[in-house]
Amino acid sequence: MMKNLVLLGGGYGNMRVLLRLLPNQLPEDVTITLVDKFPYHSLKTEYYALAAGTISDQEVRVSFPEHPRLNALFGEVTHIDLENKQVFIKDKEPVPYDDLVIGLGCEDTYHSVPGAAEYTHSIQSIDKSRLTYQTLSNMPAGSKVGIVGAGLSGIELASELRESRPDLGIVLFDRGHRILKDFPERLSKYIHKWFVDHGVEVVNNANITKVEPHTIYNHDEAYPMDAVVWTAGIQPNRVVREMPVEKDRSGRVKLSQYHNLPTDEHVYVVGDCASLPHAPSAQLAEEQAEQIVQVLLKRWKGETLPEELPEIKLKGILGSLGKKQGFGFVADRAITGRVARFLKSGVLWMYRYHNG
Ligand SMILES: Cc1cc2nc3c(=O)[nH]c(=O)nc-3n(C[C@H](O)[C@H](O)[C@H](O)COP(=O)(O)OP(=O)(O)OC[C@H]3O[C@@H](n4cnc5c(N)ncnc54)[C@H](O)[C@@H]3O)c2cc1C
Repeated sequence: MMKNLVLLGGGYGNMRVLLRLLPNQLPEDVTITLVDKFPYHSLKTEYYALAAGTISDQEVRVSFPEHPRLNALFGEVTHIDLENKQVFIKDKEPVPYDDLVIGLGCEDTYHSVPGAAEYTHSIQSIDKSRLTYQTLSNMPAGSKVGIVGAGLSGIELASELRESRPDLGIVLFDRGHRILKDFPERLSKYIHKWFVDHGVEVVNNANITKVEPHTIYNHDEAYPMDAVVWTAGIQPNRVVREMPVEKDRSGRVKLSQYHNLPTDEHVYVVGDCASLPHAPSAQLAEEQAEQIVQVLLKRWKGETLPEELPEIKLKGILGSLGKKQGFGFVADRAITGRVARFLKSGVLWMYRYHNG
């Protein structure tokens, strides 16, 4: 009997699953069905540049691998039926699974701020990033853009947009008393100085209380804006939010030590939808996927699993400030400047090399 491994979402997590199982680790009696909305893998970590208009659409797309036992199905997953072991896809027949890896990524969360969902732009999905690109690039000279949230993606978008459109006024609203307050102060100072030197206004201790068309309210004070981009928080994909399983405070699915549902050893969750002891990132999704592949292979072969899997170790973070400067926190050290930017480009190059 052939078994069907269904992968929901061809993001960083499930791409790593494919990379490890194909071409020759996939047991003869297993087929893979990959389901994604889009017929390509999207480089989410580059959406800030897509939105700012500094890279082309084609540069954020990577072809999915091909294999005789890999079926790719392109459509929108609407619902997972855990009881009957099948997945519902808009306008298509339900897909039955023997094993399932859910890697549908995340969406914006708006913390109940009125108007935020309706009147802000997003860089959390490729289609929304394209719309953001259109809005930002069609803005007349001298227009004002507000960016809410100075995490990695907000910082990268603000700096990239500055280089792309020197004529725009850019205001970055940061909730903390300093940018990246959980990292060494040297990084915050470096990034802050870059913004001051490049004419990006940073508003610290911000609390956005409302968004209206052309106006954003910080502590109820109105700031006129021609466009607002929201980079102030994420939550798991709606399909996962609607699953009747136990979640953590961020809505991520609680898992066993083998990354499967505690109630179902055939359903795994990878990446931004999974509750793990680290903040979500592409790197984390990939490292977790490595472990899921090991678990799948052992279970398929009927081998015993170790009591615990090794702790997932991450390398650090790397961010860009436009095309020439960057920053990072790698091996517990803060790095800044051209070296950091060079490293970031290198990581992307390696990723494309292995997945292209
Ligand atoms: C601007 C920006 C910069 C970032 N920079 C970094 C960085 O430098 N380093 C880092 O480690 N992380 C970074 N991240 C975070 C990183 O992108 C995510 O953590 C990572 O993409 C999560 O991987 P994933 O496999 O969970 O899902 P994703 O990579 O988000 O993939 C989800 C997939 O599911 C598909 N999908 C979603 N919903 C459906 C549906 N209903 N039906 C069918 N398909 C669906 C999508 O099309 C997509 O292909 C950044 C994020 C952003 C936004």
